[in-house]
Amino acid sequence: MNFPKIILKSNKEGSLLRNHPWVFSGAIQYIPKGVADGDLVDVYAKDDLYLGTGYYQSGGSIAVRVISFVKSPIDQVFWNGIIANARNYRLTIGLPNEDTDAYRLIHGEGDGIPGLIIDMYHQTAVIQCHTTGVYKNVKWIADALSTNFGEELTTIYVRCKDTMPENDQVEMADTFLLGNDAETIITENGIKFKINVVTGQKTGFFLDQRDNRFLLASHAADKRVLNCFSYTGGFSLYALMANAAEVVSVDISDKAMDLLEDNIKLNPTAGLHTGHCANVMQYLNDPDLTPFDIVVVDPPAFAKSNHKRHNAVQAYKRLNTLAMKKVVSGGLLFTFSCSQVVGTQLFYDTIVAAGLESKRKVRLIKSLSQGPDHPINLYHPEGHYLKGLVLYIE
Ligand code: SAH
Repeated sequence: MNFPKIILKSNKEGSLLRNHPWVFSGAIQYIPKGVADGDLVDVYAKDDLYLGTGYYQSGGSIAVRVISFVKSPIDQVFWNGIIANARNYRLTIGLPNEDTDAYRLIHGEGDGIPGLIIDMYHQTAVIQCHTTGVYKNVKWIADALSTNFGEELTTIYVRCKDTMPENDQVEMADTFLLGNDAETIITENGIKFKINVVTGQKTGFFLDQRDNRFLLASHAADKRVLNCFSYTGGFSLYALMANAAEVVSVDISDKAMDLLEDNIKLNPTAGLHTGHCANVMQYLNDPDLTPFDIVVVDPPAFAKSNHKRHNAVQAYKRLNTLAMKKVVSGGLLFTFSCSQVVGTQLFYDTIVAAGLESKRKVRLIKSLSQGPDHPINLYHPEGHYLKGLVLYIE
């Protein structure tokens, strides 16, 4: 099957030959007239070598995102295969299982489809579209989910409004394609969480922290834990279920704080919990705040693009300096960055700067990453977005 043919400039084919799926607009010599956002195109090298098939998107620096490196029809059979392949990978890494029924099924480039996220919440799938091309195929994608999961799946919800490119012209709305239940209860490592796929942030829950929450739980018994940027209480619930003496959660969203309280009621927790609807920076700045045994810092992405990187680094430094000052001597700091443009080394260097600024002696216990259901395509290192450090603060 042939799609309109895009031809690259000389010597611009290297990254595609190395299986990296992005074509930058500056690499393109020729685009046929009439190609619109979201259209499928075939990408060729200058010498007429076929390189891949992908979605065209104008306006940004990435003009084509490749979804197939071999010529094949992009039809229902293609999408059925993509979902089946993603599901096989999750089964190989043990998801879902008896204790966990929520996981990411498709993680963009990590699963070979840039612009597509699918999160599974018990019997609900949330499809999140980041490109027009993915959005235009969403019915096929939903049918592929139904084909692969059958009656296991009762609800499919599409979220696209907040995630599509800003200049996109396609008219779209967030919508249910199967069922209509916005709320569901998931189990993660045996802990229950209420999810609202319509009003929740992102697709409803932050699945990428599952293994890191589990690690926190192993340290939390009898401890006083401060969870900064707590959202619906992922880290807080793990700490409480691991018999933390006290957990304090801080988030600026009152909606998230309400859900956190609901989540505590869903689980047999005994420790003391206090929720503060507040700005974390202001909360940590309080000179009367008693230091904690463990502090968790998991802010939203401070930088979404390269030109915001410098400010983001300064913000991470200020935040972590304050956080380190609120850890008791011999306590732990779990600190994270989910900014894709702040790489592993830069985040590490920023935390070093925060350590110096806070005048604490700090040892690195462990480096953390996103869970394996958010796979990193070996040929697309940009997919490694979540960085975490577990630090011993003297
Ligand atoms: N750790 C969470 C995910 C955090 S997402 C989990 O495991 O589920 C980031 C959260 O930071 C969001 O809930 C958002 O409401 C909150 N937030 C953003 N800016 C904030 C600020 N300045 N102070 C407090 N919370 C903030």
